[in-house]
Amino acid sequence: MSDIMTAALEGAGSEELAAMAMPESYRAAFVRREDIGMFEGLETEEKDPRKSLKIGEVALPELAPDEAYVMIMASSINFNTVWTSIFEPLPTFGFLDRLGKESAWGARHALDYHVVGSDGAGIVLKTGSAVRSWKAGDKVTLHCNYVDDQDPSAHDDSMQAANQRIWGFESNFGGLAEIAVVKANQLMPKPTHLSWEEAAINALCNSTSYRMLVSPNGADMTQGDNVLVWGASGGLGAYAVQYVMNGGGTPVGVVSSASKVALLNELGVDAVIDRKAAGYKFWIDEHTQDESEWRRLGKDIRGLVGEDVDIVFEHPGRQTMGASVFVAKRGGLIMTCAATSGYMIEYDNRHLWMKLKSIKGSHFANYREAWEANQLICDGKILPPLSAVYPLEEVGDAAYQVHKNLHEGKIGVLCAAKEEGLGIDNRELREEIGEDRLTIFRRHD
Ligand code: NAP
Repeated sequence: MSDIMTAALEGAGSEELAAMAMPESYRAAFVRREDIGMFEGLETEEKDPRKSLKIGEVALPELAPDEAYVMIMASSINFNTVWTSIFEPLPTFGFLDRLGKESAWGARHALDYHVVGSDGAGIVLKTGSAVRSWKAGDKVTLHCNYVDDQDPSAHDDSMQAANQRIWGFESNFGGLAEIAVVKANQLMPKPTHLSWEEAAINALCNSTSYRMLVSPNGADMTQGDNVLVWGASGGLGAYAVQYVMNGGGTPVGVVSSASKVALLNELGVDAVIDRKAAGYKFWIDEHTQDESEWRRLGKDIRGLVGEDVDIVFEHPGRQTMGASVFVAKRGGLIMTCAATSGYMIEYDNRHLWMKLKSIKGSHFANYREAWEANQLICDGKILPPLSAVYPLEEVGDAAYQVHKNLHEGKIGVLCAAKEEGLGIDNRELREEIGEDRLTIFRRHD
């Protein structure tokens, strides 16, 4: 570890860190441009992140005036790292090349390797000359909304900005590394009661779920709303069910095993459907859906909560969208942010227009939304769904778990932190929330 990283770990102040040199290279997880074709001819399921994700030293890029170097203590696996590592639906090098053409600073990103990762918690090592609100030594978490603040279209809701990007997916120098380069407006305070790995897993999925359900830019959920949450113990779903409960609504969680049902019950979600045990077959074949199976799901939901759902929290996509549109109540809302099982969607439009339902798209979160979602983690009102922790060297195995849907909640990855459980500063708050509640996902993994 370089001197500046050791000093930051030992609690050096901003002046001391400012006087120290950054290393010329750092350890990172990346995919290579030369490997783009490595999975040609294979089905999505057969493409293996363990083969494409590499670990090694990469050159540290120069720091732009509005950026910070952050020593990443821990990061997490998001589905976008799975997409990058299997080169689907597109190789992410196209994103880097486009960013490379935008400006001199952008040109740093267009490389033959892509350092991946869109989450991170760590310590600021240095700040660029234009950074005002943060200093070296600050303990932070990072959100992934990468916005050009000189673009006028970014100044209402920055997620509407013409050149909005996701850091570590559509830009380089991401969080699955010992150092990351981020814009200062990606920085947020680290929750003091959490370890590095507990703090690192939240920003991407927590902020996305917050915008989808709580924000006026999303469903603007109200008390008493019933919300169907697909993948309710997965990355997004684990936060979504907590937002519904905190907001006075009733989540109806859908999962695929009895152990996931038990996990959600412990979290406080009483209405849970095991889709595997129920054996829904929404698709008869590749081209035909079965409305009677949508009806069966609707009946099961009414059996649990007595009525149809106000909101559907959608992300599986092709496999479930027909059912999602069907089971939403008259005037209900289907909030969608993804399409894991396929993005060419089919649903029966008659159920949408005759029952005055809406479908609304959502994508990550603006800085304000990410900040508010982070504050709820800092206050202990949203629990981190950490289920497993891998060292950076095993990032391929960690991504494989997510690709194959073998995990629950979120998987943490230790980067500069070499052991688990470090970084907890506020033990009092931790005790108040309860170790048992903070480790629900860990205990059920
Ligand atoms: P995740 O941790 O893998 O969780 C997804 C859950 O969905 C799984 O646990 C699984 O739960 C369920 N699922 C998967 N395939 C399904 C299917 N065919 N039918 C029904 N349920 C299915 O992933 P995540 O982090 O929640 O992300 C989910 C998707 O959202 C990914 O495609 C990701 O890229 C996307 N995403 C988008 C944004 C954005 O800003 N637009 C942000 C975050 C994530 P069970 O097997 O237990 O049912």
